[in-house]
Amino acid sequence: MQSFDVVIVGGGHGGAAMAAQLRQRGYAGSIAMLTAEPELPYERPPLSKEYLAGEKSFDRMLLRPPAFWAERHVSILTSTRVTAVDPAARILTTSAGPIHYSILVWAAGGDARRLTCAGHDLDGIHAIRTRADVDALSADLQTGSRHVLVIGGGYIGLESAAVLTKLGHRVTLFESLDRVLARVAGAELSGFYEAEHRAHGVVIETGTSVTEITGAAGRATGVTLDDGRHIAGDLIIVGIGIVPAVQPLLAAGAVGGNGVWVDEFCRTSLPDVFAIGDCALHANSFAGGAQIRLESVQNAADMAATVARGIIGDPTPYHAVPWFWSNQYDLRLQTMGLSLGHDATVLRGDPATRSFSLVYLKAGRVIALDCVNAARDYVQGKALVEQGVIVAADALADVTVPLKNWHPA
Ligand code: FAD
Repeated sequence: MQSFDVVIVGGGHGGAAMAAQLRQRGYAGSIAMLTAEPELPYERPPLSKEYLAGEKSFDRMLLRPPAFWAERHVSILTSTRVTAVDPAARILTTSAGPIHYSILVWAAGGDARRLTCAGHDLDGIHAIRTRADVDALSADLQTGSRHVLVIGGGYIGLESAAVLTKLGHRVTLFESLDRVLARVAGAELSGFYEAEHRAHGVVIETGTSVTEITGAAGRATGVTLDDGRHIAGDLIIVGIGIVPAVQPLLAAGAVGGNGVWVDEFCRTSLPDVFAIGDCALHANSFAGGAQIRLESVQNAADMAATVARGIIGDPTPYHAVPWFWSNQYDLRLQTMGLSLGHDATVLRGDPATRSFSLVYLKAGRVIALDCVNAARDYVQGKALVEQGVIVAADALADVTVPLKNWHPA
């Protein structure tokens, strides 16, 4: 049986950062990274951006060149799926046979959430989570299909709508809540993005649920909505979030549910088993201590650093300001902090100029910023979020005063 000191399950942003961080910090033990995908670790964000647009080749999305892993003696087992964990014997059941670990780091991310309504399994329905997903979507788009129905008004749905519009396809987007980005941003930002997409010709239907996918000859031909309407389309993209890939860990007895629970050192409830990235359910200090999962490159990388420190004997609790970005058309959105639970918003700048920031406050303290083509606010806002600085709303709204001028009282 193969045996490694550290086994990392998942070759995404978290897994790759984990292996790299361990070596960077001088860890000399054996490391294996197991990934269900056939590829070496690659960047996921371009999947709904430059890769879908055909502007970035896959080679340029590799997180590290192949030689990086070989030089650092990281054994990568691609196309290898872990199906069970025996925490007492420290043995993984995998499609490549049993593997023994001394320390296990679970960085398995999540699978694209699928529809469950009638017609959900027809051909022509696509997710955007892996390279294979986008390759299949791109191949389908080239067969002459033109009207794309996007289900889900989150970042992935909106980014793909922007790319497809640019590629000359017609797009209709459905969001069951009353505005796009409702789970992650304030109403002002949602309104701005809805207007932008409509100006580019995207039809946006909010407050509308898809109840059925209709089809002919085994292929999707449209959707039926909860108000009874039927919208015909050539293919469908489903962007309705992920299901955390934690089933083997939960089956082994790890505490969790919507993700696997971890403490401030990213330790699960199983001995010497850590979890990081999209699948890790943790109390986030920038969400008022609420138990959340964060789906971002930042969270995956910073949690990897936390675990690496723990393994080399320098444990440091996870405490990193969340940040994220999204590219749509010529708009670069950069977010700092988490707006969850905000009780006031302040607009800095004029959305009509397509450069502005939305500052989120809770009990007078700055907790988050959404910056649209406003990199300076984004950079300078970090300290305000990190320190929970109190700033009066009218002062924050004054764009002539840079955010770096504000300090803790
Ligand atoms: P992943 O990167 O998903 O990696 C998990 C890996 O585990 C996968 O390789 C998977 O195959 C493997 N795996 C799963 N189960 C098993 C198993 N049982 N056995 C073996 N291997 C397994 N974040 C941003 O910050 N900014 C963005 O602009 C942005 N855009 C995005 C656009 C798209 C289209 C997507 C899909 C995500 C985007 N994200 C973005 C989110 C970001 O990519 C994720 O938060 C990040 O990839 C999480 O890293 P992870 O290591 O936790 O999981």
